[in-house]
Amino acid sequence: MSPMRRDLFESEHDMFRDSFRRFLDKEIVPRAEEFERDGIMDRAIFAKAGEAGFLGMEVPEEYGGGGVKDFRYNTVIIEECAETAIGGSGLGITLHNDICLPYFLHLGNEEQKQRWLPGICSGELITAVAMTEPGIGSDLASMTTTAIRDGDVYIVNGSKTFITNGINADLVITAVKTDPSQKHKGMSLMIIERSMEGFERGRNLEKIGLHSQDTAELFFTDVRVPVENLLGPDEGEGFRHLVTNLPQERLSIAVAGLASARAAYRWTLEYVKERQAFGQPIAGFQNTRFKLAELATEVAVAEAFVDKAILAHNQGQLTAEEAAMAKWWCSELQGRATDIGVQLHGGYGYMTEYPIARAYTDARVTRIYGGTTEIMKEIIGKSILN
Ligand SMILES: Cc1cc2nc3c(=O)[nH]c(=O)nc-3n(C[C@H](O)[C@H](O)[C@H](O)COP(=O)(O)OP(=O)(O)OC[C@H]3O[C@@H](n4cnc5c(N)ncnc54)[C@H](O)[C@@H]3O)c2cc1C
Repeated sequence: MSPMRRDLFESEHDMFRDSFRRFLDKEIVPRAEEFERDGIMDRAIFAKAGEAGFLGMEVPEEYGGGGVKDFRYNTVIIEECAETAIGGSGLGITLHNDICLPYFLHLGNEEQKQRWLPGICSGELITAVAMTEPGIGSDLASMTTTAIRDGDVYIVNGSKTFITNGINADLVITAVKTDPSQKHKGMSLMIIERSMEGFERGRNLEKIGLHSQDTAELFFTDVRVPVENLLGPDEGEGFRHLVTNLPQERLSIAVAGLASARAAYRWTLEYVKERQAFGQPIAGFQNTRFKLAELATEVAVAEAFVDKAILAHNQGQLTAEEAAMAKWWCSELQGRATDIGVQLHGGYGYMTEYPIARAYTDARVTRIYGGTTEIMKEIIGKSILN
């Protein structure tokens, strides 16, 4: 429920929303606690989502996708995951659709597309993207995982950490150094597959939120990766490919941040009307009205920017700076909104049976992953001052 009228969506998106919501209510919401406890979502959910048409919407039909390139469908999925407070499980799906898929779709050659896209769309192949290493995150070009060519294979050595879908993933888009003597120009991307010898998963990491998301360590020891698994025609282009795909990743995180802020506002609005103190509903206090007024305003203002960014992205016109603006602003808004929500729920806001509590802990990471707030400001600042 938006505080203001929105004109982003058409009737086909509303229908898609209804059907995705039914899917969530049937397949994920009733099992959300189980996935949170297990620290991972049942991988069978991906196949169910694929079967129902919620994966690979933009992939051409010949490869098993929906054949419609329109980020508003991705937006609907993100928003409904936020509304139903299934952040950790939802992230697995949106990472697969919004963040990993474009690498296969736009960089894959014909053979790679035929090999992988049908499984990605059906949900039989789950994807992850591995950039971060124990020693580096923001400073990506200093990464140390190497892929040294030896005939028709690359020999990969190194490790990655904090990898979303890390346990469930079958295909890992891995950032490697094919020329370790270089920084940006030495990087390449290649697909490392579940079955490859020497590829092992470490711990499913314990986090303060997003418990149902399997965030893991990955280890590569002399993994022999066929040269056919290199993404993009040439070695050394990995950094450029990452930069090309990051605006969509950041837009996805911005949409999720805004959706979470909107959900926090709605849950809080409902709660304060019910809860009584000093003989009146909490909603009767001026402080409550002011906080809700601030939230309604902030959500509506952010929505105007993000909805415009979504349409610009559909036209291929979203810039890296605009995506960075959306990402840092909406993830910070998400932090403020969930914090105010917890406060107005009082003690119940701290209990995980209330969605606001889970949304609060799930929210903290969005200011960090996908590029921190500080890195977003660097991108924007450099574009202004260059
Ligand atoms: C739950 C979770 C899921 C994740 N999923 C993935 C994934 O799927 N794939 C993946 O590759 N990575 C993933 N990450 C990693 C994430 O993208 C990184 O944690 C993030 O980019 C920050 O890197 P870092 O942790 O190394 O922090 P650092 O780079 O060490 O930064 C530490 C602090 O220094 C600041 N800082 C760094 N450089 C600058 C600078 N130039 N100017 C000002 N301040 C600076 C940062 O903003 C931050 O506040 C995930 C992380 C988490 C927590």
